[in-house]
Amino acid sequence: MQKILVSRCLLGERVRYDGGSHGPFDRLEIWRREGRLVPVCPEVAGGLPTPRPPAEIPGGQGYRVLDGEIGVLTLAGEDVGAAFRAGAEAALALVRDHGIRIAVLKARSPSCGNRENYDGSFSGRRVPGEGVTAALLRRHGVQVFSEEELEAAAAALADLEKG
Ligand code: SF4
Repeated sequence: MQKILVSRCLLGERVRYDGGSHGPFDRLEIWRREGRLVPVCPEVAGGLPTPRPPAEIPGGQGYRVLDGEIGVLTLAGEDVGAAFRAGAEAALALVRDHGIRIAVLKARSPSCGNRENYDGSFSGRRVPGEGVTAALLRRHGVQVFSEEELEAAAAALADLEKG
């Protein structure tokens, strides 16, 4: 059975930076009952505590963090990029362990966001971009969806299972 990597905060787990969570989502509940879900919170897996200071990627491009060009900065200016990279590697290890080809990750997170990100100014301004984990998984051929694209994720799963 094809497994799906999923952000832990989308499953109601209180791992967000502010101690919050999201959901429930009917589609994720179905997949959970089917035994398909492999949950991960890259920021917690990378060693950050909950709650933790909000952090943003200057310019919003997670691949630049992966490549060591820039960091991930808190409002106070602390660079937590190393923890974000470690969390992305932990997610990739799960992908390899489970043969995963689809992920559903939280939109607009500096780790998990798949299409958009905040721009690093902590002003709520959004830019096209992706989080550090989403960027690493894409590099390794994983199709990354958000909780706003669950029907598209379901279609991709159906395609994969058709073989
Ligand atoms: Fe963790 Fe990703 Fe959810 Fe942030 S968006 S709390 S890193 S699972």
